[in-house]
Amino acid sequence: MELNPKSLPVCQPSWFATYECQRTMVCCQAPWRVVVLDGEQQAMDTRLATVDAPPELRARLASGVVTRGNSRLLKQPGGACSLLDRSERACSLHASGGLAALTLACRNFPRSVVELPTGVEIGFTTGCPTVTAMLNAASGPFELVAAAATGYPPRIRVGDELELVRGRSMALADLFSRRAFWWQWLGAVDTTDALATVLATAYRSPTTRVVPDGDGDRGLAAARIRLSTAQLELATSVLATLPSRGHYRAELRRTWRALKPREASDPTWDPSLVQVAARLMAVGVQLAAVHDGRTFAAGLRAAAQRVVLTLDLAHRFAAEFDQPVADTWPDAVMVGSNLVAPT
Ligand code: SF4
Repeated sequence: MELNPKSLPVCQPSWFATYECQRTMVCCQAPWRVVVLDGEQQAMDTRLATVDAPPELRARLASGVVTRGNSRLLKQPGGACSLLDRSERACSLHASGGLAALTLACRNFPRSVVELPTGVEIGFTTGCPTVTAMLNAASGPFELVAAAATGYPPRIRVGDELELVRGRSMALADLFSRRAFWWQWLGAVDTTDALATVLATAYRSPTTRVVPDGDGDRGLAAARIRLSTAQLELATSVLATLPSRGHYRAELRRTWRALKPREASDPTWDPSLVQVAARLMAVGVQLAAVHDGRTFAAGLRAAAQRVVLTLDLAHRFAAEFDQPVADTWPDAVMVGSNLVAPT
């Protein structure tokens, strides 16, 4: 795919404007899997040939792709990409051929890059620990700011209209004003009750444009509705076994559905996490409809569920591993970001 072929303006969240890869290599290992698009393997090999890469590396690329169903994926023998140079903590393809030698997924991670009629919009996944650290340290309201033309091609193109709810479309201007509404509201969140109200509203009434009267208890109960002790145990075990589980999302979705009807747990959320949890929700608002392929309402519901899950995971890990909850938050974000909540 071409890089910003129409020279459209590019924007990205100010919180992540200074993002640089810190080589955590999380994205090169399970549970992340890299999809190889049609024609990409050939293009990567051509790039390696152009830069006179060693024949051994081209052979690794040639044997490094596996077909799973309708998808082609980079192989992960032992849970890590076969093109990862573990001793150097570096990608062999990138080292030889630069960004042009990578798949779209590898090149863009942790970005989600979407072309809108108004410009190119970059979002970030909190499944990357570097992004999570920036989220924790962020200040000020969530806002999209101009970015330099990037080397990150759009993954998808989105038209003038998106879906608000299934079967009901909304114009881009409507989407932008709805996002602004949520971001403004989230920016004012500073108590547990305020956070609970915004999460519960996102879950129950995602198309609203009205800030409801604060009813923390009721809001908190609604926001917790999808959680159970069993879910928390499942997520804890996922964290403990991530490297050996491979691509576990499908299994996790199935398990989540089975657990959904159970009783909610009732943890107390640490007030120190309120604002950073609101920031996580703001990131979810950006991704809804534009980046996640859902309706706006479904995207908001899923984002609210993910925040609730992440808060509860942070407390669960703190109790299990005897650590301050602020220290377990990044792991909770990692797991929560990989749990795809149904709506
Ligand atoms: S190809 Fe390189 S960047 Fe992509 S997953 Fe493998 S090691 Fe990581």
